[in-house]
Parts: sequence; structure tokens; C-alpha cells
Amino acid sequence: AYVVTDNCVDCRFTQCVAVCPVQCFHADETMVYIDPDNCIDCAGCVEACPVGAIDDEFNLPDDQRYWIEKNRERAAILPRLTGTMDPLPGAEARKAALGL
Ligand code: SF4
Repeated sequence: AYVVTDNCVDCRFTQCVAVCPVQCFHADETMVYIDPDNCIDCAGCVEACPVGAIDDEFNLPDDQRYWIEKNRERAAILPRLTGTMDPLPGAEARKAALGL
């Protein structure tokens, strides 16, 4: 499955939600998470994310691998997102700080 990682925290742009063909995304007040049992590995969300927050679980560097379980846990208890939301305040500044 694909996994949402660090760069989504406090950004939550949600363009990923618009491209996902199977409505994998769930959200809380800081970021989105992918339900790994729904994800069909299409990779569409990877390019859609303006801050490069999403990657294949098998590509993750060691310091990002904890997100695999975190996405599973959080997606299981949070509401499914059916559309995009406004980015969080400061999202554009965080994106700029990443050089993106
Ligand atoms: Fe949805 Fe495809 Fe991203 Fe999986 S890889 S979360 S199916 S857009």
C-alpha cells in the first residue's frame, strides 16, 4: 500500500483525495492517512501531493517506516474523506520551507 508520511503533517493539502479511485483517505485535524486495505497501489496520489508526502511502503526510508502502522491505525478510526478540504494555515509556508 501507499503511505502518507511526515510532509503531510500540518499541511493536509488533500489533492490526493481528488485523484484516489477508491476513496482510501481518512483525515484528522493535522493530516490524512491511507487505509492500506483499500489502496490498490495505483500511485496516483504520489504525483498529486504538492509536498511529496506519499510513497510506496516498500520505498520508505527507515525513519519513515513507522508511518505504515500509523496510517493503518488512524485510517481505521477516522472518517473517510469524500472530497478535498482547504489546506491548513501555514501549509504554503511549510511547502516553501521544503523547497517545493
Ligand atoms: Fe488511492 Fe492509488 Fe493513492 Fe492507493 S495509491 S491511496 S489507491 S490514489
